[in-house]
Amino acid sequence: MDQQIEPIRVLLIEDDEDDFLITSDMLRGQERARYEVEWRSEFSESLHAIAQRRHDVYLVDYRLGEHTGLELVRAGFAGAPSSPVIMLTGEATYEMDLEATALGVTDYLVKQKLDPLVLERSIRYAISHQKAMRALALSEERYALAVRAANDGIWDWDLVTNRIYFSPRWHAVLGRPEQSADEDPSTWFGLVHPGDLVRLRAAIKAHLDGRTPHLQSEHRMRHADGTWRWVMSRGLTIRGADGAPTRMAGSLSDITDRRAAQMRLQHDALHDTLTGLPNRMLFMDRVDQILQRAVREPDCGCAVLFLDVDRFKLVNDSLSHAVGDQLLIALATRVASALRPGDTVARLGGDEFTVLLEDVTGGDDATVVADRIMRSFDEAFEIDGNELFISLSIGISLSAPGLDPADLMRNADIAMYDAKRRGRSRRTVFDQSMHRRVVDRLARETELRQVVECSLLGIHYQPIVDLETGRIRALEALARWPEDWPPVPPTEFITIAEETGVIGALGQQVLREALGTLSGWRAQGLVGEDVCVSVNLSGRQLDDPTLSEHVREAIDAASLPLVVLKLEITESTLMQEIERTQHVFSEVCSSGVGLHLDDFGTGYSSLAALHRFPVDALKIDRSFVSTLREEPENDVIVRSTVALAHSLGLPVIAEGIEHSAQLRRLRALGCEYGQGYLFSRPLSAVAAGSLLRRWSPSQVNELGAVV
Ligand code: C2E
Ligand code: MG
Ligand code: MG
Repeated sequence: MDQQIEPIRVLLIEDDEDDFLITSDMLRGQERARYEVEWRSEFSESLHAIAQRRHDVYLVDYRLGEHTGLELVRAGFAGAPSSPVIMLTGEATYEMDLEATALGVTDYLVKQKLDPLVLERSIRYAISHQKAMRALALSEERYALAVRAANDGIWDWDLVTNRIYFSPRWHAVLGRPEQSADEDPSTWFGLVHPGDLVRLRAAIKAHLDGRTPHLQSEHRMRHADGTWRWVMSRGLTIRGADGAPTRMAGSLSDITDRRAAQMRLQHDALHDTLTGLPNRMLFMDRVDQILQRAVREPDCGCAVLFLDVDRFKLVNDSLSHAVGDQLLIALATRVASALRPGDTVARLGGDEFTVLLEDVTGGDDATVVADRIMRSFDEAFEIDGNELFISLSIGISLSAPGLDPADLMRNADIAMYDAKRRGRSRRTVFDQSMHRRVVDRLARETELRQVVECSLLGIHYQPIVDLETGRIRALEALARWPEDWPPVPPTEFITIAEETGVIGALGQQVLREALGTLSGWRAQGLVGEDVCVSVNLSGRQLDDPTLSEHVREAIDAASLPLVVLKLEITESTLMQEIERTQHVFSEVCSSGVGLHLDDFGTGYSSLAALHRFPVDALKIDRSFVSTLREEPENDVIVRSTVALAHSLGLPVIAEGIEHSAQLRRLRALGCEYGQGYLFSRPLSAVAAGSLLRRWSPSQVNELGAVV
């Protein structure tokens, strides 16, 4: 036998030496275990040995002189033996048995029937039983402690008796007094919110049926203070040998705060913080739901309105962002008040809002609502002492089979741009032609970038003629789409260039090439030193801080004096942003470059403003020149423009002269210069070169002659 095995320390209490010897022999002779036997025969010395608590097992003889073993056990352990006690007795009675059990005696053995095997097994059982009991006590203690310390309430449902134990904390969570006895399950279910009860019962059933690995249910329960609290109930079943559930136990925790935080997060994720309206994500989701319903019920159409505040940037920039924000909030409220309760209004960001109209059968239904929204904006917004009149442009798209939410949004957006394009404060219902336009426009944008990047742009030149002498005073450079490409008019590609910012590069190309061409004509002796070149400048180019630098470089590159360059800028561009343009022009023009005011008469110039710019000439817009022929008396505008220019000491250039009658009238009115098909259409550099070569000033007189 392994000597290293821990010996079992036995205190043998026996007043009969013979019996002691028999018992201790039995122990020593054991093969399965090693015993260290200590013998006591006296009651008091036994008590003393017990008090030391250093034995693994006590073998106590029932008869101890005038005492009994049971008395010793009672005195030594006070009913809770620290190690197992086995009673050795001559005879056993039922009463003795009862008393021994009550005192915590583990086993008793009848001496006459004692043999080494019985003794060994009894000791072994007693020790392992004691160990198990101790472990159980510890675990129960730990469990009790955990239950008490946990924030969760505990419940334990005996499915056989159908009674539930609720821990004190379970009651506390719901503000209820503690109950000592187990309760009926109705206590629990009676407190559950009626709206959640079916779901909870279904979850319990699913777990009991073995369809879910555990019970987990979030539901509301009535707190004693009358409020509803959100709780989480978790649970697990124990099953009998036949697999039928016998017991289910679990926890209950108050998740009201967590849920509120969760709801807040969820709300924030789906709503715009400024206005509290649904955001794009939530809006798209609602559109999606409606569209899905429309698949089942084809009559349930919907419409999406895309709203954009006209000139919102102006409010933001000229007042303040704070005023802009307040305006958006007020605006959101106003839009919402023009809708029916079921409709959704959302803010996509910036000044863009969308509206979802449900149960719309056609475009008319939606335009009625759009008109109502627009009418609600007739009244000014009062913000921070500012009276703001705001208008909206609205694009409308209608649901149709096969369209998804993104399609509807895109169509409404396209329609909104169409409304803006046709002048603000309008509403437009989307149609396919708009989509085609957008697609075309995108294609055009790409082409334009290619044209500019690869310097494929053509330039045509149109002479500007001195109406008195007939000499060519200047040539206007006009950009042209590449000749071998499908034609695109300049007004179209210039607008796209302006909107996309390509105009900067385009303008530089025209400037360089036009100056280079003039320089070439000079070298060939086709033009004199007083002949200039006019280059159009778009408003967007004024944003470029390096503009004057580029102009100078282009002139230097062509080795020309600054005075030969005239920059044409439209009247409306100049007047739109007086402060900014004034600074740019004084910089560009101080060197001698001239400034011509293009399309004059179409904008609203103020005389005072005109004075502030180094303008060299006014170009009367073609539209006024064209009316000269049809309504000979109706030349008030041309006449007053000429008078105005002359009063400012500026010469006038008439655009678009097509007929000799116009030429005669302009001459009579004292207009100095003219440009138009009557003299020449815009021509390529080569064709313009030959025009210059064969030009004779006298032909202008002939052109003006009455036939
Ligand atoms: P604009 O600067 O007012 O140019 C005059 C326009 O009138 C030119 O149109 C020209 O071809 C046209 N025109 C000249 N004489 C007659 C006439 O007798 N009858 C008629 N019906 N039209 C006449 P175009 O070339 O189509 O250019 C249109 C506009 O595009 C220009 O108006 C100008 O604003 C812009 N543009 C053209 N090239 C450039 C450029 O290089 N840069 C910038 N920024 N704009 C340009
Ligand atoms: Mg021009
Ligand atoms: Mg013009």
